[in-house]
Amino acid sequence: IHARSERLPARGFSRADQSALDRHRRLDSDLRQALSRDQLRLLFQPQVDLSDGRIVGVESLMRWEHPELGLVSPAEFIPLAEETGLIVELGRWILDRACSQAVAWPVPISVAVNVSPVQFLRSDLIASVEAALSRSGLPPERLDLEITESSRVTDPSRVHDVMWHLQKLGVHLSIDDFGTGYSALSHFRDLPFDMVKIDQGFVRDRKSESDRVLLAAIVELARKMGKQTLAEGVEDAETAAILRAMGCTFAQGYHFGRPLPEDALIALLLGQVEKQSA
Ligand code: C2E
Ligand code: MG
Ligand code: MG
Ligand code: MG
Repeated sequence: IHARSERLPARGFSRADQSALDRHRRLDSDLRQALSRDQLRLLFQPQVDLSDGRIVGVESLMRWEHPELGLVSPAEFIPLAEETGLIVELGRWILDRACSQAVAWPVPISVAVNVSPVQFLRSDLIASVEAALSRSGLPPERLDLEITESSRVTDPSRVHDVMWHLQKLGVHLSIDDFGTGYSALSHFRDLPFDMVKIDQGFVRDRKSESDRVLLAAIVELARKMGKQTLAEGVEDAETAAILRAMGCTFAQGYHFGRPLPEDALIALLLGQVEKQSA
């Protein structure tokens, strides 16, 4: 996770800075009530097997429908929730929601939930995951937790321990936005996880030869470490073909589907079932 929150520049305080600060304060105070006022939604973005295009999972992505400001992006409110610690409560809500929704879907695909590094340090994440699984009855192998490398996680041994416990529960662990973080590669060698999610930056900027070399090297590295690979931000068929040729297993992106409300996802899954039985 990158430090996305506004930092006031040294050059003085402009009108734009003031309005950014006002918005920050407004969102900060309203976010506390967003949960109780039922303003948070989960969307689900398809994750496909590159060999046949079948949907094998979805990623849960949060949306905030603010009554006056409209749709607020998670890129804006998640960092706020991390600063205030509210992410712990939000995180529990998402886990519960995602698991209880997924258990009722017509096809037993996996459901991925983003976990903030703050949840690793400040909350009893393991207990929250166990509770979400037992309340919903979702088999643990259908839950995929996406973990982001972070400069803020100052205690790698704690992260390691929590991941180890989660893996013992039987949940699937993915490293999100791989390649953009701050951690050294040696750190990954020691972490227990199942899949590398290659950041969309590497996937979309493959115009130059050096970009393609980097992308191919990441796929190869993950494969040699015995990890699954999923490419994020795949927006066209050509990119999908290149990734498949490189040996990447899974993909996610607008080419395969945008983040969808649950009813649209279910319709898509039912269509897939029909096609297979036809
Ligand atoms: P992420 O986990 O890396 O999620 C992928 C982001 O890329 C999503 O943005 C998704 O809508 C977007 N995306 C997917 N395919 C494409 C594509 O083909 N092209 C382009 N340009 N973008 C694509 P979104 O939904 O705005 O979420 C942004 C970030 O906010 C997420 O990045 C994640 O870090 C965070 N986030 C979202 N929901 C949650 C949540 O429930 N909990 C936590 N802790 N973080 C969340
Ligand atoms: Mg993610
Ligand atoms: Mg990502
Ligand atoms: Mg991201």
